[in-house]
Amino acid sequence: GEPVCECNSCYSGSDCSHFTPDCIANANDGDPLFLEPFWSQHAANSAVVAAGWHRLSYSYPDDTNISKELERLIRKLHAVVGNAVTENRYIIFGAGSSQVLTAAVYALSPENSSLPAGVVASVPYYALYRKQVEHFNSQKFKFEGDAHQWMNKSDSSKYMIEYVTTPNNPDGRLNKPLLQGPNVNTIYDRAYYWPHFTPIPAPADEDLMVFTLSKLTGHAGSRFGWAVVKDETVFNRMTDHMGLNSMGVSRDTQLRAFKLLTTALKGDGRGLFHFGYHTMKTRWERLSSIISLSKRFSLQKINPQYCTFYNKVREFSPAYAWVKCEREEDTDCYKVLQEAKITGRAGNAFSAEDRYVRLSLIRSQDDFDLLIEHLNKLVSDEDGVK
Ligand code: PMP
Repeated sequence: GEPVCECNSCYSGSDCSHFTPDCIANANDGDPLFLEPFWSQHAANSAVVAAGWHRLSYSYPDDTNISKELERLIRKLHAVVGNAVTENRYIIFGAGSSQVLTAAVYALSPENSSLPAGVVASVPYYALYRKQVEHFNSQKFKFEGDAHQWMNKSDSSKYMIEYVTTPNNPDGRLNKPLLQGPNVNTIYDRAYYWPHFTPIPAPADEDLMVFTLSKLTGHAGSRFGWAVVKDETVFNRMTDHMGLNSMGVSRDTQLRAFKLLTTALKGDGRGLFHFGYHTMKTRWERLSSIISLSKRFSLQKINPQYCTFYNKVREFSPAYAWVKCEREEDTDCYKVLQEAKITGRAGNAFSAEDRYVRLSLIRSQDDFDLLIEHLNKLVSDEDGVK
């Protein structure tokens, strides 16, 4: 039948071709629609069909062929990209990396301490960490804000858990941990550690690394993430959490992830990454060339690094622009952009100043083009406004 067209809010009509002038550019949400064209090119190979009588049993970890095959494929994926060491490590699945992150906090908090572990992340950080920990309101762990404020604290008997998002959401930097010590555990959120977004200087080799299909293949709605874990006890506690929290990960999702990754790894296994990198690089160049003309706005600057995936020094091509409003009076940068018909995400959502706004660069081409159009106008109007 007719392809079902999901129109961007700026377009209407049966084929989404009617442009609505004056509509607002969505640069808020992190939906990874930039990968849609890659999957359109591989539509038949990547399709999944499941018969109604298939897979009625519960999805116990590790007892099905699909889990074992998917785990094998994930190890191969990391080997092809060279972004993580998986030899002699455990791999655990979750419903998106969101669920894996909660399992990790639970598993790293002390089993029998009267004091909860303090959970921290360095500002600007992805809000979900704080929200999850506050929501679970556990006796085992408590959110304690910005990791910067816990540096060089003398109380080394306190258990701490630090989230290190690397590359970081919102600013794309390859963050390093700020806290160290015998009672400090670190959760490396490596959702964006793929060639789409960053040079890969070396395979990540940390004790607990979290990845997600969402920002790798773009299938955020399938809810699939995984952790690569060094320690057996931590792995077992994460497995216990998964069992109690959702009795395993949807097998339909595992099947879909398997099919998508198999398709992505066909041939030399680099096609998805070339597409992702090329798209993000082009977008970043277009955005930075406009902002470079502006005195009113600035972007994060990250120095190029050697990338072992491309065997050359390359620029970052981040998932988000971390925009700063430079004018004294522009203390609410979200509002400044909103008035120019651009919806970003305010700095305070990342526990940062509202002089900053995050703009999502990973949405559809239409969303990005509209963002560029509105930004162009905003920047070319600058002199007139002064
Ligand atoms: N970590 C980071 C840094 C993210 O940006 C996101 C999604 N925006 C997630 C985790 C959660 O993603 P998911 O649950 O889809 O894997």
